[in-house]
Amino acid sequence: MEQDTRNVIIIGSGPSGLTAAVYAARANLAPLVIEGFEAGGQLMLTTEVENYPGFVDGIMGPELMEQMRKQAARFGAEYLSENVTSVDFSASPFEIHLSGSSFRAHAVIIATGAQAKMLGIPGEKELLGRGVSTCATCDGFFFRDQELIVVGGGDSALEEAIFLTKFASKVTVVHRRGELRASKIMRDRAFANPKIDFVWNSTVSEVYGDQKVAGAHLLNLETGETSSIEVGGVFVAIGHLPSTSLFEGQIDLAEGYISIPSDDTQTTVPGVFAAGDVVDFRYRQAITAAGMGCMAAIDAERYLEAQHTHA
Ligand code: NAP
Repeated sequence: MEQDTRNVIIIGSGPSGLTAAVYAARANLAPLVIEGFEAGGQLMLTTEVENYPGFVDGIMGPELMEQMRKQAARFGAEYLSENVTSVDFSASPFEIHLSGSSFRAHAVIIATGAQAKMLGIPGEKELLGRGVSTCATCDGFFFRDQELIVVGGGDSALEEAIFLTKFASKVTVVHRRGELRASKIMRDRAFANPKIDFVWNSTVSEVYGDQKVAGAHLLNLETGETSSIEVGGVFVAIGHLPSTSLFEGQIDLAEGYISIPSDDTQTTVPGVFAAGDVVDFRYRQAITAAGMGCMAAIDAERYLEAQHTHA
């Protein structure tokens, strides 16, 4: 059976995937974006984005994604609202399987992103973007002079707590054990910060509030005692899960993230590139993801040119 073979297939449709699509489309590569059933990535779960350059008054996350999507479509990007079920990168052209169809591609850009781990407690989902956040860099600014909770005991939790003290009047770190997982330098910095308090051996059992966060219920895991604190925001910083299960055994991963062995965006399989939060566990910003998407499209274009496979 003759398979549909494309120049470039982009898997994922957050800022990195869609920026790759804009660049690949403008390079006449007619990219196919397999955007997934839940298109748009993490920005679909945010409200106001104030740190994406070019939008002086800010822009809503879903609106920003819609603009990027239309921008790539204008230059010929094609979209499929389906999930990839498996890939075969063992030979070029690479194979990409969906539930009812398959494609082949001379180059692939993986932009499947990552998801912040959530606590799965009442109020968390309902108040996400209304006081519940997974990104202090993105949302800290909205919490001037308010009291906040950060959940977690790793480097991310302490980094977020320290950053939030620039805005908040007080930050309470709630950790499920009596000992932090974070590195010594971060622990020392957090302990020395007069605005940071710790609640040990405890977990947040519920976030409450009408329209926006008003407080949280805590549960002491050792004593079973419950308590409540009034806060304007709850930052969940218990780690991230990169979306890489599709690629296990096909390309190298490191701690779940896609490995990029060189200083470009090529994975351990030549012709397969990766960009955004599926690679980057450090910055995790829409603008850095978009920047990497641009890099991946340029790398893919140069790769195809060197292979003379550009249709
Ligand atoms: P992490 O190191 O895996 O820490 C996750 C924290 O969340 C742990 O303290 C864990 O508790 C807690 N946790 C996990 N699931 C939970 C749940 N369901 N309920 C309550 N608490 C829960 O993740 P991370 O802090 O995001 O860091 C990821 C990696 O990036 C690490 O290697 C870290 O060193 C690195 N990083 C470095 C920096 C820096 O150097 N500046 C900054 C950020 C991240 P337990 O401790 O009990 O398991």
